[in-house]
Amino acid sequence: MSAWECPFCGRLAVFDSIKKKSDSFYVSGDTKFGPLLFESFVAVCPNQDCKEFTYDTRVSTVKLEGGSYKPVELIERWVNRPNGLYKQFPDYVPKPILDDYKEAVLIKNLSPKASATLSRRCLQGMIRHAWDVKPARLVDEIKAIEGQIESSVWKAIDAVRNIGNIGAHMENDINIIVDVDPGEAEMLIGLLELLIQEWYVEKHERQLRIDAITALAAEKKALKQAK
Ligand SMILES: [Zn+2]
Repeated sequence: MSAWECPFCGRLAVFDSIKKKSDSFYVSGDTKFGPLLFESFVAVCPNQDCKEFTYDTRVSTVKLEGGSYKPVELIERWVNRPNGLYKQFPDYVPKPILDDYKEAVLIKNLSPKASATLSRRCLQGMIRHAWDVKPARLVDEIKAIEGQIESSVWKAIDAVRNIGNIGAHMENDINIIVDVDPGEAEMLIGLLELLIQEWYVEKHERQLRIDAITALAAEKKALKQAK
């Protein structure tokens, strides 16, 4: 029995227990691979709190066997959902932040400058939401959280702030579109991923551990008093 890991909630499920749907079609075209078989698969996560679905497509060479077409050799596979390009973060991360992050990733290659603009807006949104700062220019907001956040994380933000055009324009309106190369856009995205992980995911998990310990201690105390 093979295991299936839900890319949305991270839970493992027995492969046979997930709801699957598939469909296929045969293409008789004279391609360099010969005739082709296209197959689509939908899988539904059995976790009641999740119920997300994945969708992928495969194209293979094909043979006729027992009256039906069977895939022989896989040529290519596309994961349509989730889009494998961006990281899946839990939905307790505020939606506007996740939306800007995802869009910044999706358009990174097509338009690095649009991507960098969204990333700067996302960065500012996170600083304002996670830390109590007075709205100002992004550069001042970054300065304002120095000392409040872990110094290695602040250094990473400051390092990105010092890069070429991105840096210059953090001092101006964040919505001004500036020319950046894909490498710079990528660096901003890496920073967003680091901060979402640090400021939301780790914080949330830490709180869960604290709550669990506090609850356990209260339970032990109650048991002791009941004796
Ligand atoms: Zn799931």
